[in-house]
Amino acid sequence: MKIIMLGAPGAGKGTQAKMLAAKYDIPHISTGDIFRANIKNGTPLGEKAKEYMDKGLLVPDELVVDLVIDRFKNPDCEKGYILDGFPRTIPQAKALTEALEKIGEKVDFAINVEVPDENIIRRMSGRRACVGCGATYHIKYNPTKVENICDACGKELILRDDDKPETVEKRLNVYHEQTQPLIAYYTEQGILKEVDGTVDMNVVFDAIVDILGE
Ligand code: AMP
Repeated sequence: MKIIMLGAPGAGKGTQAKMLAAKYDIPHISTGDIFRANIKNGTPLGEKAKEYMDKGLLVPDELVVDLVIDRFKNPDCEKGYILDGFPRTIPQAKALTEALEKIGEKVDFAINVEVPDENIIRRMSGRRACVGCGATYHIKYNPTKVENICDACGKELILRDDDKPETVEKRLNVYHEQTQPLIAYYTEQGILKEVDGTVDMNVVFDAIVDILGE
């Protein structure tokens, strides 16, 4: 099963993608996570990506597409995958469609996790990420057991540069301009499904499982 998670930054698609990956036993491929790992490891790709990410801009398509298509060759992708944060532009979506067509495959579902901008801004200002393992929390909706300390690895939590309010606003504008058109693209392909992302994350999860099947 090949699934694309769509939605504004902060809509909770990453959280859902992780839960779905565990349920269906397929990998969760997050381009944001791949870039952050590259930044942490000081790779040339990370250096280039950081310039854009810190400003709330998208990393250029040519730095993203091959990275993801290459990732599909990994044996863990045999049963499918969940894409989180890719595609994010129409050219990326077209490149994905073409790459899959070449090997006689296609995406099964594009799930749009719908959350209004006001909720997103509220959510993201409270988001905290672990400097060690990258796990994300929310000071109100998903707090750690010990304040500011990661439950998973014990390292400190920070407000990511790209979650800062001025960057969030920029990212939402970028989302509306460049990523939202994918909703029409996947509607035309007949695979778009919408879920309400404003409710409890377990309720969102159940709604997605209803769509995908047990
Ligand atoms: P995310 O964790 O998915 O919100 O991604 C964080 C940041 O990484 C984005 O704001 C972009 O700067 C960059 N990024 C992640 N995925 C993509 C993509 N598919 N295309 C372009 N930039 C991306």
